[in-house]
Amino acid sequence: MDQIITRFPPSPTGYLHVGGARTALFNWLYARHCKGKFVFRIEDTDQVRSTAASVDAIFDAMAWLGIDWDEGPYFQTQRMDIYKDHVQKLLRSGHAYYCTCSPEEVEQMRQKALASGGKPKYDGTCRDKGLGPDDHAVVRFRAPLSGTTVIDDVVKGPIVFQNAEQDDFIIQRSDGTPTYNFVVVVDDMTMGINTIIRGDDHVNNTPRQIMLYQAFGAKLPVFAHVPMVLGKDKTRLSKRHGATSVTAYRDMGFLPEAMINYLVRLGWSYGDQEFFTREELIEKFTLENIGKSAGVFDMDKLLALNQDHIKATAPERLADMLLPFLHQKGYAAEKGNYLCKVIRTLAPRVKTLVEMAEAAAFYYVDEIVYQPDAAAKFLNGDHLKALRLIRDELDALDPVTETNLEESFHRVAGETGWKLGKIAQPVRVALTGKTASPGIFEIIEIIGKERVMGRIARAIGWIENQTVSG
Ligand code: GLU
Repeated sequence: MDQIITRFPPSPTGYLHVGGARTALFNWLYARHCKGKFVFRIEDTDQVRSTAASVDAIFDAMAWLGIDWDEGPYFQTQRMDIYKDHVQKLLRSGHAYYCTCSPEEVEQMRQKALASGGKPKYDGTCRDKGLGPDDHAVVRFRAPLSGTTVIDDVVKGPIVFQNAEQDDFIIQRSDGTPTYNFVVVVDDMTMGINTIIRGDDHVNNTPRQIMLYQAFGAKLPVFAHVPMVLGKDKTRLSKRHGATSVTAYRDMGFLPEAMINYLVRLGWSYGDQEFFTREELIEKFTLENIGKSAGVFDMDKLLALNQDHIKATAPERLADMLLPFLHQKGYAAEKGNYLCKVIRTLAPRVKTLVEMAEAAAFYYVDEIVYQPDAAAKFLNGDHLKALRLIRDELDALDPVTETNLEESFHRVAGETGWKLGKIAQPVRVALTGKTASPGIFEIIEIIGKERVMGRIARAIGWIENQTVSG
């Protein structure tokens, strides 16, 4: 078997869509699985719709997902000479011809075909005229008039097209520019692509592409057309369903590992397994397990998977990804031991990095904002004594460790006869402003005795003020 060579050829007419990212991943994973080659190409021949900003957005998304390529990026706009040469090749071999019919004439032919119950198509007027180049001439492909063209699709099985329904499509416009299906085939052929995995919205382009391969005498690649990604209402995923740009999920606090895992699972399976590391995906990805039915994008599943990946990821790596979110909130967070400890306490409790940054507030702010409910319930006269006792215990504690903190809290519980919760909850509110947080012994050890003492003193003062003013 030849080396597997796959490709990802996005058109830079917008950001990288979730479906496009999945296509990129499938091709990349398959190349990596087979120890083959992955080629990256920018299909920017549509000069009107292509933008440099979209090219940048696609590169940014690929970098975020960690999809690297072995060859490219190629830009179609830099390959015009190659396309021209290939048009000439087909003209020379008789597989293409010049046509001087005007657009109005072609439109009339199409209407006529429609009126007689056929498909709207060019009627072959110039097919055998033997015309030469002319200012207004287009170049048409001499398509077979009968027989069938079959896509032997790895995912969908054989798909048969009647050649009689195809027309002599244009491969080069009158301004000398090549058309879409033509450049795709010339690129795939000259880049040695032998496996094409793409969305099934391209199925209808494929018979024309196959005809071109045949005209060039080139070997057909393997085609795998993957069902589209759908929204919950089973229509094609669009903005109505939520964000469709893959990097929007980075901004929402998803890990690339989770995004990759989720996108791949949307159209591919390996038994019942849901969680995959990047390495496992490379090891296990084959074309046989691509699903025949469309995957439905489900935000709750993605969130659950993100949570699993957050739990499975080393704090040092999470730190790199979390920092921008912390800085966005204005926290002077930096890489290091403190941040890693913070992350260890929060990772089991959040679904996204956005949630993690929110939950990290009490580790970074100078002054805790008490949630009104929490303060009403625990920062009141009933709990003043507990806070004072804990303050005194802590004052005497050196060093402050999880173990001796636990002893201190138990001592206070023993002396007062109160349950641990009655003591711990006001302390928790004093330290975090909330009634739910990571374990307070961990928190105390991380934020350190001095800040803890300050926060407890402030809570005591807060209660005392209230009691006086109340
Ligand atoms: N440029 C096309 C797109 O972005 C892909 C073409 C192909 O995969 O053959 O949809």
